Amino acid sequence: MTSIRKIRTITQIGGFILFLLAPPLNIFRYDLNLGHFILFGHHWTMRLDAFQHSDNNTFDAALHVLFFGLLPILLIAVTFIGIAWRYGRLYCGWLCPHFSVVETINKLMVRASGKPSFWSRRLPEKQADGSILAPNKNYWPATYLVAILFAFVWALSLLSYLLPPFEIYSNLLNGALSRNQSLFLLVATTLFSIDFIFARHLFCRFGCAVGLFQSLAWMSNRKAMVVHFDSRRAATCKQCNNACDNVCPMRLQARSMKRKMFSCTECGECISACIEVQGGVRDKSLLDWVAGEAAKQCSEPPASMPVTFYPDKARS
Ligand code: SF4
Ligand code: SF4
Repeated sequence: MTSIRKIRTITQIGGFILFLLAPPLNIFRYDLNLGHFILFGHHWTMRLDAFQHSDNNTFDAALHVLFFGLLPILLIAVTFIGIAWRYGRLYCGWLCPHFSVVETINKLMVRASGKPSFWSRRLPEKQADGSILAPNKNYWPATYLVAILFAFVWALSLLSYLLPPFEIYSNLLNGALSRNQSLFLLVATTLFSIDFIFARHLFCRFGCAVGLFQSLAWMSNRKAMVVHFDSRRAATCKQCNNACDNVCPMRLQARSMKRKMFSCTECGECISACIEVQGGVRDKSLLDWVAGEAAKQCSEPPASMPVTFYPDKARS
């Protein structure tokens, strides 16, 4: 396993655990009963009723809303977009709990059918590291089971973001969920199952506002970090079965120019694949991240056309 994959596995597991534990640990949640957010154990409320008896109530209340409402939200949004402007969709590829599900189910589907989704072409059995992965139908039950299990966990976690988490978990364990809680879990599990089984990467590409705004910020910065293809050595790719394209969870062609990589999540899977093809030596990889002036070149068509531009290239 490449060091990129090792580190990303750790951050993705950490991101998923945080997603599950943020409500019960009161790190972040919105309590529908209380009508306000809870952030790091503190009740994040405007407390506007305190200004009703003040002489200067309108001005004081406006200042309060500005400093305790709008400014913190603006600060978080600017920081998030600033990271995306400089590094791309790092959040998606390295932390997002949805993307972890996308990749896990992709891998199971490849095992079951040789295709990462129902809508993809069949991938070559030869992997980047030279091993052979033949499809095995016995993986289908595990694929569906994991997808539905993830859907339920997601539904349960989302409910705990809205209602007191310990009440939800205790009701679940004691079989005492209210009618509305049960209905929420049933509908959300069904919808997430459909997403996870049929449309998971399509949601990341076209349906997620968090991903879209990161992509827009990233595209606006020509010097932002980007996966760069060393087109001077494009001939090397003739020995390869497009391993970098085969592993991309977003079905992108990593050797393309930046404007064709709008939804790149900076996951580095393409880089890891090329490192494996080159015998595990990162310096020999034709793909790696660049930033600054070098990144500007990725906005231009390569001088030497990579093999990816010939879609009929034989894949074995
Ligand atoms: S192009 Fe590479 S870094 Fe971007 S999403 Fe695909 S595999 Fe990940
Ligand atoms: S860039 Fe690397 S992984 Fe991609 S086709 Fe060329 S040699 Fe293969």
